[in-house]
Amino acid sequence: MKKCAFCNYQDKEVIIYKDAVCYAVISHDPINKHHVLVIPKKHYMQFTDLPDAVVARLFVVAKKLSLAVRKACNPIAVEHISDDDLKKTGINLVEHYKLHIIPRFKNDKITHFWNRKGDKGIKVRASYAKDIKKCLKK
Ligand SMILES: [Zn+2]
Repeated sequence: MKKCAFCNYQDKEVIIYKDAVCYAVISHDPINKHHVLVIPKKHYMQFTDLPDAVVARLFVVAKKLSLAVRKACNPIAVEHISDDDLKKTGINLVEHYKLHIIPRFKNDKITHFWNRKGDKGIKVRASYAKDIKKCLKK
């Protein structure tokens, strides 16, 4: 089995934060300059695999780092993204959960094509709400 790059992180020069639960680095394959990854030290593949305490820590650290990213490069926006590649389609270059912090700049040519379907009305949205509420664990 291939060694996980995030369980065995090598590029010490780009580690910008570290604690007992997680660490953060500058992305190896950035979307924009100052693109940061917040990574749990333990190997988890998906967001839903993370223990609650790890989720909390990652987001507290992401908040702190987002403020630093804002100061470091003066973006017009900051995105916070993660993907769970449920069907192993290769969306994730490293199959170890990470939270991306991506500064955005005017005319940076980064696009997320959201093929919005328009508002289908309150009844349709209520049926989606019902689907999810049925699946929520009490
Ligand atoms: Zn790993």
